[in-house]
Amino acid sequence: MAPFRDVLSPESEFWEACARETSRRTARKIQTVYLCDECAARLTHEAFNDRPPIYHGEELEGFCGLCNDRKTVVARFWFACDTCWNVVQGYQRDKPANLGVRKYWNDEFAEQFPDLTLVETDPVRLLPYQRGAKTKRQAAETLDALAFRVERAPGQPIFHIELKSGPGSIEQMTEFQLDINDSNDIIGVANKTGLPAYIFHVQLRHVYEVPTRATVAGDMWWTDIFTLLKNRKATRQRRGEDKKAGYYLPSAFQPIDTFRRELEMENYNTLRKRLAKKPLKFS
Ligand SMILES: [Zn+2]
Ligand SMILES: [Zn+2]
Repeated sequence: MAPFRDVLSPESEFWEACARETSRRTARKIQTVYLCDECAARLTHEAFNDRPPIYHGEELEGFCGLCNDRKTVVARFWFACDTCWNVVQGYQRDKPANLGVRKYWNDEFAEQFPDLTLVETDPVRLLPYQRGAKTKRQAAETLDALAFRVERAPGQPIFHIELKSGPGSIEQMTEFQLDINDSNDIIGVANKTGLPAYIFHVQLRHVYEVPTRATVAGDMWWTDIFTLLKNRKATRQRRGEDKKAGYYLPSAFQPIDTFRRELEMENYNTLRKRLAKKPLKFS
């Protein structure tokens, strides 16, 4: 690919505006991320409304902040608000977290459960932020897939897996936080498909090659949606953000090695029957 060095003109109506927001919202903060050319072009097109960076730095070898690969990267500068930038920085987590789950499944479960197939359904999607778009709640009611589903035969899914990732270890958390939007997504998919959902938490850490860094997956824990909801202790507004989150007892989760027993017992069948009797309630 030709080097991506497009820049936003200072004459643009989106100068000093958040690149991720579809309609103009003033943001004078300049944010930086190291990206390869492919990812810089992709981010510009898919998440930033075709608004390129305002500046590109020097080429160097390091980790890309989107695809997480080690390659030639360049510091890219955009105007963006902190809330949107958090989302953009989160994109780097998806690939290693998904990879961590696939690898664990292949290493630990594939041989013992050859009739079960782990299907990745949710490749990383980059989206701009549009105010007044379809509400998250409406979207949750029509969603029919989470990060993974497990099938007994092609086209015969038996349960879903949603993935959460972050720097924390479940063992050291005082509470597990999940956006209400995210728990509603899980509830929506379970109700719509009639299949239970498990939630895996993947602990991530950074590997630095300054000034760049990669994200790698570490330990994992799991729970199911019923157990998680039973362990909710509070719902609060997230600090500094216009979003609600649920706060859960970390004891809802178990280390991933006990998921083997869940599969051996075929407990997902019990959960499916429970769901058929009574759909889950949105928050
Ligand atoms: Zn990249
Ligand atoms: Zn923004």
